[in-house]
Amino acid sequence: MSRVVFTKRHEPPRLPDGRYDIYFSYWSWKILKTCPYQYRLLVLEHLRPAIVEKGNAIQGGVPDKMVEDFFAKPVDVRKQLTLQWFYDHFEEYWTQFQTDPRGKITWMTPAEEQVHVAALAAEKPIPQQLRRKFNRTLKKKETYDHISNLLDMLASRNLIELRMETQHTFKAKIEETSQYVLTLGGRIDLLFEVAEGVVDIWDLKGVKREDYNDDDQLGVYKMGILAGGRKVRHCGFLNMKQKHFDDHKIDDAFLRELRLRMIDVFMSTIARGNYTARFDQRTCEYCDVNGSCNTYLENRETTFDVKQLLGKNKILL
Ligand code: SF4
Repeated sequence: MSRVVFTKRHEPPRLPDGRYDIYFSYWSWKILKTCPYQYRLLVLEHLRPAIVEKGNAIQGGVPDKMVEDFFAKPVDVRKQLTLQWFYDHFEEYWTQFQTDPRGKITWMTPAEEQVHVAALAAEKPIPQQLRRKFNRTLKKKETYDHISNLLDMLASRNLIELRMETQHTFKAKIEETSQYVLTLGGRIDLLFEVAEGVVDIWDLKGVKREDYNDDDQLGVYKMGILAGGRKVRHCGFLNMKQKHFDDHKIDDAFLRELRLRMIDVFMSTIARGNYTARFDQRTCEYCDVNGSCNTYLENRETTFDVKQLLGKNKILL
């Protein structure tokens, strides 16, 4: 990926009556509040990352898609199939997610996986040419464990029989003043209807640490549902790794404060055309477009030199 040369100025979005037309999904909000320059690259310039590690996408995508397909079936069918359906179809979904449009398995073939499994069982070293792919075998096992935990969780609350919308999409006007209109949109993993017009919102997560989850995501979802005229009983993260329904209190005060932050950040960045890079070592290492960011490239080089001098990279080398 090469450094980016900007050719056009991005005017702040406005409605015909001159008010700011502010739109956020949780994705775009998270990017803007983390680093305005990343927002410019990804959201405004539509820069595509050169190489994205597919592992996280597969690990999140397989449970998402399985839940979506299972809960799209009528309740009677679900009851008949039981949660065993997930175990029976796991391989099929895993293969589907790592197969390209020409039908070629691109990420890790069953034969490669077998070599890993056999080497592990025999406590032998992984063959040199397959070492880089070993992590993928671990990811598969982790995904399987996540699904197994998820099923226990669904069973523990009898959720299998509830009416459920998966990947519920919304786009709703949340607030308007003489200066702006704020609209939020997004897609919610799991929306259980617990009573007429009352829902529980759960976002499926497979994160290592529960505190990586961000309440703003729940705030965006809750505002979207409330704007559509329904009430929200619970909202939280369904943490598959920890096997934990992590219910968060997202009250009116939190939502008000979130809206204020959104407006403030919009006014100090997008409204002014100010997309300053915000370097943070950890965040930048995981940034999809760091290869096109001068701030990252300059700071990374410095950090790398210091680490070298201090000998902190020894384990990696
Ligand atoms: S690498 Fe860091 S500073 Fe650069 S765009 Fe990404 S988050 Fe922002």
